[in-house]
Amino acid sequence: MKVYLQALGCKLNESELEAWARDFAARGDQVVTDPRDADTIVLNTCTVTAQAARKSRNLSRHLSRANSNAQIVLTGCYASMSSEQAQGLPNVAFVVPNADKDALVKITRERVGDFPYAPYFPSPSVNEQVSLRTRAFVKIEDGCNMSCTYCIIPLARGRARSRPQNEIIDAIKSLVDGGYQEVILTGVQISDYRLQERESGNGRLRGLCDLVSEILRETPLPRLRLTSIAPWDLDDELLDMFSDTRLCRHLHLSLQSGSNTVLRRMRRPYTVEQFADAVEMARAMIPHVAITTDVIVGFPGEADVEFQESLEFVERMNFARVHVFPYSAREGTVAAQLPLHLSDLVKDARAKAMQRVADTAQAKFAKQNVGRTFDVLYEEQTNAAGIFSGYTDNYIRVATRSNKNLSNRILSTRLMENVQDGARGELVSNAND
Ligand code: SF4
Repeated sequence: MKVYLQALGCKLNESELEAWARDFAARGDQVVTDPRDADTIVLNTCTVTAQAARKSRNLSRHLSRANSNAQIVLTGCYASMSSEQAQGLPNVAFVVPNADKDALVKITRERVGDFPYAPYFPSPSVNEQVSLRTRAFVKIEDGCNMSCTYCIIPLARGRARSRPQNEIIDAIKSLVDGGYQEVILTGVQISDYRLQERESGNGRLRGLCDLVSEILRETPLPRLRLTSIAPWDLDDELLDMFSDTRLCRHLHLSLQSGSNTVLRRMRRPYTVEQFADAVEMARAMIPHVAITTDVIVGFPGEADVEFQESLEFVERMNFARVHVFPYSAREGTVAAQLPLHLSDLVKDARAKAMQRVADTAQAKFAKQNVGRTFDVLYEEQTNAAGIFSGYTDNYIRVATRSNKNLSNRILSTRLMENVQDGARGELVSNAND
């Protein structure tokens, strides 16, 4: 089978796509990079906003026009929440709901190609075959037990559930064998990672810290990056783990709003003061840590004064990066039923204002780190002029000129000046050998 895979939306969708690509390749299927060469197309959709759902439909139609002979398999949050509509799109052979996602490769091979399905063991060659980048996403948990009033994820992805630890460790070992330098642990909210420890017989609840220390102990992985941590889960035990320099100094803490009255209507279980304390604690314990976040603007009923509070709080927090989302009503959520929805005009204006604050903060964070030396994982040559780009562990994008191929190498780099979206770097003397 020749299979083309594409994902929209979050890092979790990306990590699922990468795992499926490795799974298909390990079974002898060819993972193609052009949908016109495929006989099967898998699209991992998103519905976190109305725009994302629209994009999912449009992309599915686009892929069917690009290759009218291919069978399309739709999965992901849009396909799960609107399965009938998704099934009705051109050339869609079938929908795999989120609940069956982990078995997508098996289902697809049996339904599309009548291909037998047998267990397999990831090998380095598979990773080389589907090696898309120097950094790999690894899914550790899915679903969510919270009920934030704007969020469709608990409806689309179900209750929180965690992947067995040994499975995660094996996947990371295979990625390291395949030459990956960095792994990004993904999930809906990875601090929700919980596993009842049967083996140890004491039933102790093992969480994210146990998993991270196991990965750092059991694998030679050079760099480990965490994604969304619930602000209310941030504690000394987790922050202490950053004394291991293989753990990237980057924390993504979703704020959602900088106004306490809006946070209450969102049913977020913290105040801006508690959030600020958590950030302060992290900065005190992890030098030069990057704190990134998500902020929704234009939540139903968000008064001018509430938006101003949110804007000023975000400014005060000096985030390294802020993802700004204009509120989007999602059918089935509590917030969609709330009164006083704001016009798109107001939401757009607030998103622009918040984005200006975000851009200023991002540039300021890069500037604060100019003059310092970091290990940068170089990903690709970005232009013919021998410029390679990559990320520091604290998530600054660095562009460095070199006449040597720096791809997939972690090299000591001095940040010389901040530039658009990051910094210009220079390799420290012996790094270019
Ligand atoms: S926003 Fe709230 S409900 Fe949605 S995934 Fe995050 S914690 Fe769960």
